[in-house]
Amino acid sequence: MEMATREALLAALRLQIEWGADEALEDAPRDRLSALPPAPAAQPTSPPRMVPALLPQITAPPGAASLAAAAQDLAALKAAMASFDSPLRETATNLVFADGVASAGLMFIGEAPGADEDRLGRPFVGVSGQLLDRMLKSVALERERDFYITNILPWRPPGNRTPTDAEIAQFLPFILRHIALVKPRHLVLLGGVAAKALLRSKEGITRLRGRWHRAPEEAGALPALATLHPAYLLRTPGAKKDAWADLVLLRRTLDGSVTPP
Ligand code: URA
Repeated sequence: MEMATREALLAALRLQIEWGADEALEDAPRDRLSALPPAPAAQPTSPPRMVPALLPQITAPPGAASLAAAAQDLAALKAAMASFDSPLRETATNLVFADGVASAGLMFIGEAPGADEDRLGRPFVGVSGQLLDRMLKSVALERERDFYITNILPWRPPGNRTPTDAEIAQFLPFILRHIALVKPRHLVLLGGVAAKALLRSKEGITRLRGRWHRAPEEAGALPALATLHPAYLLRTPGAKKDAWADLVLLRRTLDGSVTPP
């Protein structure tokens, strides 16, 4: 291959990765333009036509709510989530279900797995998870003993992009069932995606963090503390003092010196 062609192909590949297209769906590339129906003969008076093959797939696959409701324990819920047909499943490597101690009474909920979590099939094991573990240790909370941790989405969005509202809505029945089966006494919502989805709020995380909320009935009406996501803290170290204040509030609540409203 000519050097100039190779360089150009590598540059195009790098651009795709930067834009988040970092997963191959099929072994061979598909020419989507040649799959289009032949163009209709020119009709100057008719309005422009939409091409159905190019419209984004926006309909949610049915059945999440009934699949989730039928799961009677965590193993069944995990199997139900694995069987649920979602485009995210096609690009991810492993289902990331949960980690920690389900009976601990304290449940952390993040956003979605990243590349390390996808590779290992466990939540919060990459750099942001390691920061979270260190922060929690400083208030005497250990994953192997004191809490359970999961995410709103069980599959990694390609390129680590933020989950869409449609993806969050699709998987909401599963996280609600997950909470119902784990029966924690307290929830901690890590970052804006988890906080907005489970508190049914439009407010941003900087407004929601730092105080106890009451989760809606469908999420067990549990006390829920919203706090900053550890990935945000890695990018914004100045915000660690706020996260620390949230963890002190959590510790005081667990110790019984603060009672959530
Ligand atoms: N970020 C999340 O929200 N969840 C993970 O599991 C890892 C990173």
